Amino acid sequence: MNPAPWKDVTTPGVVRASVALAVSVLIGQTAIAHEGHGHHHHHEHTHHSLDYSLSADATPYAPPETAGDGYYWWKGNLHTHTLWSDGDHFPEVVAQWYVAHGYHFLALSDHNVLSEGERWINPATDVHLARQGGIEGLELYKERFGNHWVETRPSGDGGLEVRLKPLGEFRHLFEKPGRFLMIQAEEITEGAHVIHVNATNIRDLIPPQTGETVEETIRLNVNAVHAQRRATGQPMLPHLNHPNFRWAVTAEDMAPVEGLNFFEVYNGHRGVRNYGDDYRVDLDRMWDIVLTKRLAELNLGIMYGLAVDDAHNYEHSESDVSRPGRGWVMVRARYLTPEHLISALRGGEFYSSSGVILDTVDATSDHLRVEIATDPNSDATYIIQFVGTREGYDPSSEPVTAQDQVGKIADITGRWVFVQAVADRDANRQILRVYDETNDEWHEGAVTLPAGETRPSGPLYLPGHPERFGFGGNLSEVRFWHKARAREDAENDMSSRLEGEESGLVAYWPLKESEDGYAGDGAGSNPVAIRGGRFEGESILDNASVLATSGGDFGLVEPTGAIVPGSNSFTIEMWVRTDPEAGGWNLPFEWIGGDRIYVGQDVGQGWNFVVTTDGARTDTQYGEPGEVVEIRATRRYSDDIGEVFQETAGTSAVYHFNGDEIYVRARIISSELHPNPFASGERQKAWTQPVIPGIGLIEAPDH
Ligand SMILES: [Zn+2]
Ligand SMILES: [Zn+2]
Repeated sequence: MNPAPWKDVTTPGVVRASVALAVSVLIGQTAIAHEGHGHHHHHEHTHHSLDYSLSADATPYAPPETAGDGYYWWKGNLHTHTLWSDGDHFPEVVAQWYVAHGYHFLALSDHNVLSEGERWINPATDVHLARQGGIEGLELYKERFGNHWVETRPSGDGGLEVRLKPLGEFRHLFEKPGRFLMIQAEEITEGAHVIHVNATNIRDLIPPQTGETVEETIRLNVNAVHAQRRATGQPMLPHLNHPNFRWAVTAEDMAPVEGLNFFEVYNGHRGVRNYGDDYRVDLDRMWDIVLTKRLAELNLGIMYGLAVDDAHNYEHSESDVSRPGRGWVMVRARYLTPEHLISALRGGEFYSSSGVILDTVDATSDHLRVEIATDPNSDATYIIQFVGTREGYDPSSEPVTAQDQVGKIADITGRWVFVQAVADRDANRQILRVYDETNDEWHEGAVTLPAGETRPSGPLYLPGHPERFGFGGNLSEVRFWHKARAREDAENDMSSRLEGEESGLVAYWPLKESEDGYAGDGAGSNPVAIRGGRFEGESILDNASVLATSGGDFGLVEPTGAIVPGSNSFTIEMWVRTDPEAGGWNLPFEWIGGDRIYVGQDVGQGWNFVVTTDGARTDTQYGEPGEVVEIRATRRYSDDIGEVFQETAGTSAVYHFNGDEIYVRARIISSELHPNPFASGERQKAWTQPVIPGIGLIEAPDH
């Protein structure tokens, strides 16, 4: 037997003393003990804090399971956000969560930034820490890590600033040979084509690059990682993130990128649409299409599938956009080092999981065998599917088309209009009404909401998501109602100020003043941060000022709390005047990952009001109502691609290759639900990597 690559092997589930200082037990012991058996439980509020000065060594490290011949299964997450970009906690709190939940490695991959250099944030005004209650988030950080660790300084305005520690300083609290490793990463985040590429174990920051097309943009960013690897000699791994996020990437975009061998087949963020829709393939099918094209048509080598968290919201966050612990990889390697992990990943020596734990993945030239690690305390049952494409498959494909439900309902550049956007859950309709004051005219469009899908409950951004869109123009009288309002309702009160007490009114920003960078809520306690906007005297109503913003700035961002829409009907109303000089895309309102009611501008064209459920359309695709339009989506292929060769109910299965398969992979589906408030019925799964009959696992090439 090979010696373990560390000294102090212990049994799983035992809470180990650690060399790290200043960390407390985050969660109940039961949650930790279950982790190794493939369950993920949210025991968020069973934590008890220990005084770190008394119990400095309370962090439970999870020993890895053995994987034969001196190998171990290392559990890790390759996609994680902190306050360095748009995550909502300090990096130490984030790392501590992963240590306490049985992970062995963690890559912090913030958007277009490395956790390095000097950075201070104001906990009272930081929009991301605001999801943790701002100062409350700081208090939790202090409680966990102590006043001697947390660095604060007075800010210029009499407040307080906190230092975000660089990875090079805090990793020492957590890293432990053979137990926990931190890896520097970056989510290279490109805006024009919405291409996000994770670069794992990079050394220097890589700025995003934009190409002419989606394909070219993926290629440029992936190749930038390869170039740095070659220049430094340091192993690095680029992977394409969440292809279905904003429907950015199709199989046809992805397949021809020579240097791309890894993508996210599962991402835990609720807005990334792993499952596709009526027009877009789910990521499992996208994987099969890409594999078939690369291996049988393009001769471009393997594509491996990763599961990741893409976590942004930790512990006490009021947002459920992306919690940690939802997707991970189990890497079979001897040593817990970046080089060994990357080498194992490149060799396909891993599987991806959203809850199912495997004992064995036996991939040879003539068979693929899978054994599930079962939990005696669980009555979960499993289906093991062997999936692939055979030689002689039908390679033909057809474009995806749809009959347009929506169209342009008004052109309203440069003048005041009253917008009423309604999600009517009872009628299952999403409606946009626009009153054009200049012509005294109402316009209306509506679509059917998709049935049966759980509604989003995250924060609302006004106007638009702060990291993606700007709004150019003026806003006034922003109102949020927890009910479906009618046109007549608007006609009755759009031309006067509200009292704030009206039935169903949950937030109201007349936008007449700014206090400390916030606009006060006239109906409740939902102040919104003002970024880049200024108040002007000119007004559509008596007594009301307006907020003026220019393209690239943001007026109101992320009000929270009571106005979270949940599953209720709701209505958003506001007076809007667009600025024709501002250019680009503008969205007066948007929910991340939810249905969208766009008020958008086609680049180079006039303004268009569009109601869409974010399904049939991308931003620039719409015709006249009733017109059949081609949708930018993965084309439709025959069922020969991604055929299920064999399906077994049980906890182990073997598939012997016929020899005519181009590749074979296994997908394991548990009867256990994967807790997901945004996709009811999601099951825990595992995905093994594709095997080539006659060869076995193949290595992703160096590029
Ligand atoms: Zn992303
Ligand atoms: Zn991300």
